[in-house]
Amino acid sequence: MNLLKDPFISTTDGKVSLQEILTSDKDYQLQYFFDETQLAMLQMLSSLTTVVLKPRVAELRCYIANGVSEAHYQQALEKIETKWFEGERFMRSPFPNKAKIAEGPITKLVSGIECGSSANAMGLFSEASEVTFSCSDCTHVLNYNLHMNIKGECFGPTGATGIRGGGAISTLIAGENLKQTILLNVVACDFYQKNTALDSDAETRYMWDLPPQGDYYYAQNIGLERGLFALAYHIDFKLEDKQENCHICGHQSNNISSTFRRLKYSGMYGSTKNGRDNNAGWWIHPYTPRTVKEDGSYAVCARDQHWQSWQELTSYIVGKETNKASVKPALIINQFQNALSIGKANMLVGGNIADQGSITGRVYDLYSMPSSLIENNRRISQVVDAGLQQKDKLSTAFNKLFGIGYDKKFVGGIKEQAMQRFMANAQQIIQQILLDVDRTEARLLKQSAIAALNTEAKKIFNSVQQKYQHDLPIFKALVKGEYSLYRTLVE
Ligand SMILES: [Zn+2]
Repeated sequence: MNLLKDPFISTTDGKVSLQEILTSDKDYQLQYFFDETQLAMLQMLSSLTTVVLKPRVAELRCYIANGVSEAHYQQALEKIETKWFEGERFMRSPFPNKAKIAEGPITKLVSGIECGSSANAMGLFSEASEVTFSCSDCTHVLNYNLHMNIKGECFGPTGATGIRGGGAISTLIAGENLKQTILLNVVACDFYQKNTALDSDAETRYMWDLPPQGDYYYAQNIGLERGLFALAYHIDFKLEDKQENCHICGHQSNNISSTFRRLKYSGMYGSTKNGRDNNAGWWIHPYTPRTVKEDGSYAVCARDQHWQSWQELTSYIVGKETNKASVKPALIINQFQNALSIGKANMLVGGNIADQGSITGRVYDLYSMPSSLIENNRRISQVVDAGLQQKDKLSTAFNKLFGIGYDKKFVGGIKEQAMQRFMANAQQIIQQILLDVDRTEARLLKQSAIAALNTEAKKIFNSVQQKYQHDLPIFKALVKGEYSLYRTLVE
């Protein structure tokens, strides 16, 4: 099986090849059980397309507008060494002799399933028994996802951290169909070159051709093709000839894997503290927003289980400056805004929530973006700001609870629960309001955001008030707090 030639991509129409998706007009839908795998697949397919087409901005714009012809795809294949994309080779470098190799169930490659027991090797997931088999096709996306998302602590002392760092947020452009989405996330080589500071002789060979060497992997030495598929482990999947349904894509297969073997490389990327302290630098991964601080760059990560992506939406699209750090949108968002400028698309925000060694949850949200981001990005920030303001007001309203002499933990818990409910409901309200980002005038958009979010805040506040109506001190404190939610509604 060759990833650039053969059908390995799971869709609702069966397995198809990258060429079929890129060259036909059929509206394929990816089929993977976990949105996390789906998100990884989108990135992997865009990265594969990047190395096949190697477009400059002008060419990429043309592919997005007119598609890619079969003949063109075939010509492009002739120019590259497709042997590196054979199933047994892709992202897999041979184990050195006499190495002590760790083995684990493929369950560990799907986050959200908790397995293992040591505090910092909680593994990555929930119902372990539900993910025991992967077909040979899906081992590639599991492997890719491992390398792009992993934080070393997930595997304890045998763990390595990948080029992006663990649990990084991904932001992708979402088009009208799968083909467009893949093409919109292809990285134009001239754009990448211009916006990064790679050495002129940066290595472009894949790491399974030339494994990383030395104690630190310096970002400026890693070329685009090499970085898009950067490795942290030697890895291998044990395949068996038996028939099972794949737990990743649902298709039946007679080439099944239930375990994988791994051995970490000895060096470190700039995504780790040690690498950063030794000036390895964070490699600019095109799908990840980054925070730049005095001591270096970090991938933007989700905070905790209750974190909702809307809070940070503005910084993913236009960036954010504070006196301590600046958040920069992912390069792929910049490319769409500043180089391609081709109108309407949506944005997909996804990622794993990494909390120390474990990964506790997933984020996968779709937002509509205005057709002209440069002119209209203020509309998005107004909506997000309206949410943050109502959050503050709700918080202030509940703060009166702390003055009534009750146990701080008890009243803090009441507040915390209500705040989490607000943040989760606001996620949907904001996504909904942004659907009108193009159609509604800026002032009205802001007003409807404030009104909807204020209604939600009051609703949550009232339900708490009702619950404690017979507890007089709490009830009285909430009556006092209520004021902040009703004040200055129209701004
Ligand atoms: Zn599968």
